[in-house]
Amino acid sequence: MTKKSGYIFVLLILASCSSSGQEQKIKTGNTEHMYYIQKSDEEWKSELTDDEYRVLIQCGTELPGTGKYNNFYKKGKYYCAACGQLLFDSGTKYSSGSGWPSFFDVISDSSVVLIEDRSHGMVRTEVRCSDCGGHLGHVFNDGPEPTGLRYCINSVSMKFVEEEEANNKDK
Ligand SMILES: [Zn+2]
Repeated sequence: MTKKSGYIFVLLILASCSSSGQEQKIKTGNTEHMYYIQKSDEEWKSELTDDEYRVLIQCGTELPGTGKYNNFYKKGKYYCAACGQLLFDSGTKYSSGSGWPSFFDVISDSSVVLIEDRSHGMVRTEVRCSDCGGHLGHVFNDGPEPTGLRYCINSVSMKFVEEEEANNKDK
């Protein structure tokens, strides 16, 4: 599958969710999503640090207040720590007081896949990278305007690049 058709597949999932008639700010895709990047457990283990592997691949969570991007407000862009896909812009980052980096929006709806998560006795919406399936965090309906969303993301799951460098990288 080419990268382009992968994105089209994501759009189809989002479209099918929004046409279900449910008025929800957070739309989870129940359809199986095909991740563009497929790697074995061993490959991920050898490429990622222990912390990155535990959070991104084993769906772990860093302790609140410990992440390097929690109280961090430089201008730039945040990329997936596993595959390098662009995920968030510092312009949408805000202080939620939760202990994890918080954003009110993603770069693009097609950058992430949202999955209903019923683990730990709660119903939450998990956020994964749409290219590699890496676990990023969760999204909640208690964020600020204009979206009302709070993307609660592990620092370990992201790599920050400062504005000037990020602009060159995207060219
Ligand atoms: Zn990724």
